[in-house]
Amino acid sequence: MAVRVRIAPSPTGNLHIGTARTAVFNWLYARAQGGQFILRIEDTDLERSKPEFTENIFAGLKWLGMEWDEEPVYQSQRAELYQPKIQAFLDKGLAYRAYETPEELDAMRAAQKAAKQAPRYNNQHRNLSAEQEAAYKAEGRQAVIRFKIDDDRVISWKDLVRGNVTWKGSDLGGDVVIARAADPSEIGPPLYNFVVVVDDIDMGMTHVIRGEDHIGNTPKQILLYEALGATVPEFGHTPLILNAEGRKLSKRDGVTSISDFQAMGYEADALANYMTLLGWSPPEPMTERFSLEEAAKAFSFDRVNKAGAKFDWDKLNWLNSQVIHEMDQEDLLTKLIPVWEDAGRTVELADQKAWLMELVTLIQPSLVKLNDAVEESKLFFAETVPFDEKATDLLQQEHGAAIAQGFLTALGEADSLDPDSAKAMIGAITKELGIKKGIVMRSLRACLTGSLQGPDLMQSWMLFNQRGWDVKRLEKALEVAQAG
Ligand code: GLU
Repeated sequence: MAVRVRIAPSPTGNLHIGTARTAVFNWLYARAQGGQFILRIEDTDLERSKPEFTENIFAGLKWLGMEWDEEPVYQSQRAELYQPKIQAFLDKGLAYRAYETPEELDAMRAAQKAAKQAPRYNNQHRNLSAEQEAAYKAEGRQAVIRFKIDDDRVISWKDLVRGNVTWKGSDLGGDVVIARAADPSEIGPPLYNFVVVVDDIDMGMTHVIRGEDHIGNTPKQILLYEALGATVPEFGHTPLILNAEGRKLSKRDGVTSISDFQAMGYEADALANYMTLLGWSPPEPMTERFSLEEAAKAFSFDRVNKAGAKFDWDKLNWLNSQVIHEMDQEDLLTKLIPVWEDAGRTVELADQKAWLMELVTLIQPSLVKLNDAVEESKLFFAETVPFDEKATDLLQQEHGAAIAQGFLTALGEADSLDPDSAKAMIGAITKELGIKKGIVMRSLRACLTGSLQGPDLMQSWMLFNQRGWDVKRLEKALEVAQAG
């Protein structure tokens, strides 16, 4: 049977890294098996679900390169599917109405806590007499619908990641609520465990691959599959993403959504690569740097770890720098323009394309994230730059003014500048002043960049020269030197 898997995000927030990583494993498995990867939007929480979050989920999956097959399915549009099935459960005695008030349920939990017992529903409304039920109705109580879970049942499955998993019915917290409280003449809105099973059956899912945080739902869902007379799919529970302290990654760890990573200057290829490594190790001879397509060719659940996967910023940064360093320079320029513009810089693409391409060549090897380009190129977006303390000190030493003047004179006499003539110029000035070449180079850097550190000096100088900024900066440097 052709593999059909799904990602089922709730649009109550932006696409979360945990959901995206689950999507990665589903997508890889579908592509590895020649199957289908389906998207279902679990938008039954009408108050918290927002169309902008659905848009963010679509955009995030597309950005990461995980196109889905078929039209997305919206749970909110399928209400009519669930009610008759719940009614059938009631009719067959597989489910029943329970009339406890929230206060009564709280009291039950408090008593269990005091007796040091695990909290569970004690199934007390499972066999209400007709009189008791009539009395609750007469009081105007609302009722939830609970699905019966046999305490003596043992539920086992062979998990794609975790191997054999077994749960006792008695550990499932008692009969599970499948529909929210409503007037007892009606059926309230159905709840996650029920809806997800009905949908997965209806949509023909063969494998349910999701985060380990759902593992406690799986035995309940297996019982629901059985009650609905459906084939139980295969389950795989992927390890959680942990922070440096070994706890589940949360908002406090800096970022949680894919759009946050995007805004921080991470590349989709690097992030998708990194998320795959959060739990999967590629087989030989693959290295840790791969595309999703390459991973799909080699993906299997045998190489997915059981243990939680620690989020490692250094590794993500390393992968991101690899992706940026390998990038075509024209593509990199296209990506950097909005980064510069967001930082308030004016980019004259039409007039300065060749110059911008040279600038990209200069900074590309030092970029870890796209946003680093703001800092790495700060010398290249203004005619003049301020002189920092160390540069000022150097320029105000014995030879500072003579060096600045020497370059100004030489540039005034030169028709044009290229790396060879620039080197000759440095050589001539060094000789003329009878000082060490190192001092001339350091002073030239101070003159041109206002600092003693920065990107490659010769390449930078060529870029300044093409805009006529070297002369402007040397003139300023001369003023600084003479003011000392
Ligand atoms: N909406 C659920 C979630 O986002 C789906 C869980 C599942 O895959 O069954 O966690």
